[in-house]
Amino acid sequence: MNCLVLIPINQQYISDVQVKISNALLELNITQSAIINNNTEYFFAGDSYLQFISFLGCSPYLNFNPQKQLTLSDLKQTIADLNYIQILSNSEDYVFLNTQYGVKAICPACKKKMTEWQSLIIQWQSNLKLETNCKQCLNAISLLDIDWKRTAGFFKTAIIFHGIQAELAVPSDELLLKLEKLTKLQWQYFYG
Ligand SMILES: [Zn+2]
Repeated sequence: MNCLVLIPINQQYISDVQVKISNALLELNITQSAIINNNTEYFFAGDSYLQFISFLGCSPYLNFNPQKQLTLSDLKQTIADLNYIQILSNSEDYVFLNTQYGVKAICPACKKKMTEWQSLIIQWQSNLKLETNCKQCLNAISLLDIDWKRTAGFFKTAIIFHGIQAELAVPSDELLLKLEKLTKLQWQYFYG
């Protein structure tokens, strides 16, 4: 998907905060006007986007004046490649995202690589059970406790910055702190 995903560390204690977060991002000028595509709201990058998301190396393609240049059908084609922002928050099912290559899954109990992660995710997708047993140490663990080393993650609430390849950009400490103040929860990030 090529995205940077910001999530609260403790997802179980957060209810629907979509509106709160979307207002805060608009106020900080990280986002600007939204566009609806397939019933999903996407925001264009605002003027202060680069102040809060630091790119390491390559400069991004940022469309700061999108309304004049893009139509809805353009957006449908190119949304994965552009720096759009999406805010998700639901209190029901978890969403899982992972990078296309190089996913790492570390068992929270034995700290060994869980090479079976893909089959665990497929299982979860069919039965929604988060509990499993590590193949190596046989301990009962929750999929939520796997250390993905920022290559994947589960969430109910997230801010998704589209068009960012893994490890090419990081959120500023200031942004993470602002989100913490707003939601009373610590935030972290991974790539999807
Ligand atoms: Zn283990």
